[in-house]
Amino acid sequence: MNSSPTYLRGAQDAAIARAKREWQCIADALPQLLCLVDKHGQVIRTNLTVERWSIGPVREVLGLDLHNLLHRNCSDDCPLRDALIGAWRSLPESDRSEFELLDEALGMAVKVEMKLMPEETTAARDKSASYAVCIVSDITQLRLAQENQRILNQELETRVRERTQELSTAVRGLRAEVTRRELAESSLRNSRNELSLLSEQLMKAQESERKRIAQDLHDAVGQSLSAIKYSLERAILMLASPHLGNPVNVIGKAVEHVQNTIDEVRTISENLRPALLDGLGAVSAIRWLCREWGEVFSAIQIEINLHVTDADIEEPIGTALFRSVQEALNNVARHSKATRVAISIGKESDQLRVDIADNGMGFDQDNGALRRGRGLSGLRERTANTGGQFSLTSYPGGGTHLSLLWPLHTDVNPGAIVLCAS
Ligand SMILES: [Zn+2]
Repeated sequence: MNSSPTYLRGAQDAAIARAKREWQCIADALPQLLCLVDKHGQVIRTNLTVERWSIGPVREVLGLDLHNLLHRNCSDDCPLRDALIGAWRSLPESDRSEFELLDEALGMAVKVEMKLMPEETTAARDKSASYAVCIVSDITQLRLAQENQRILNQELETRVRERTQELSTAVRGLRAEVTRRELAESSLRNSRNELSLLSEQLMKAQESERKRIAQDLHDAVGQSLSAIKYSLERAILMLASPHLGNPVNVIGKAVEHVQNTIDEVRTISENLRPALLDGLGAVSAIRWLCREWGEVFSAIQIEINLHVTDADIEEPIGTALFRSVQEALNNVARHSKATRVAISIGKESDQLRVDIADNGMGFDQDNGALRRGRGLSGLRERTANTGGQFSLTSYPGGGTHLSLLWPLHTDVNPGAIVLCAS
């Protein structure tokens, strides 16, 4: 440089001055506070941000250290001062250091970056002769935005958690509903199957009843009518041919057969539905039924305890009660091989309670075929249809105990009627 001609040195100085102004313009335009610090830690250059931040004019802050520039008249007990000292001391090792701090004195959040600039004129890299560039950025808005973002994320997570919880609850509810419907469908299927079975049994029972009536008509009424026909034909012959004898005895025999036929028809009719049931009531009909049954099945001792009267039992419970006892006695006669059966009908709270127990051979009540063979589904159905409950206890060798319960809505006369027949 020294060897350059004078006219050239003037042009070079002008170019250098212009370059300095241009760089100063660029530095002043930046929003960050820029400081060039010498090896003693004193600020030797800075930009106009010191004035925009109301720290003071540029010329007044030159020569201060960075802490005194940022905090005028600050005490020693200062977080910014401690952070600056720490960053400055770590510079020779790492060449750069930075930290962030919420500074109350400046009223902003700041980020401080320091970079070591070795002096290029030294031949070897001499850190003791270095400058450092310090950039102080106002990151208050960034911090606020980050804090807002954090709050938003937290709210979003809370809402996602709540929504997930709601969905989980809804899914549990749906699963429970699906299970409930599956159970209901299964129950409906079972009911349909039972209904179908019951319908089949009802038809079989009706057919069996028809056969029995046909047999009774053929055996009893048919034979009597044949005898009457024969007697009357014989009487006609005797009237036409007096030498055959007097027809009076033959006609008298025919009248006897007619009387027998009337009795047979009444018996068949009463077996179908006893007149007592309509005339007096269920208790009287059951008493008659037990007496008749006891006479027919005299090998089985029957014990009856009736603690209710005809007036206590209204229809349709009366008919259901009579048919249930009739069916139960039929079962005892046909299947039980019992020597004793006890029937008890009485009140329990506001319920009509019926117990029919025998000392017969019993059966495995889990065996569906045996249950069907005893018409138990029909018994259960008839009881349920009239608002009652049915329960049965039986096991092989242990007899059978049938219990029926119907709600009673009227006051019952507690007078006990005890009737024993054998
Ligand atoms: Zn301070």
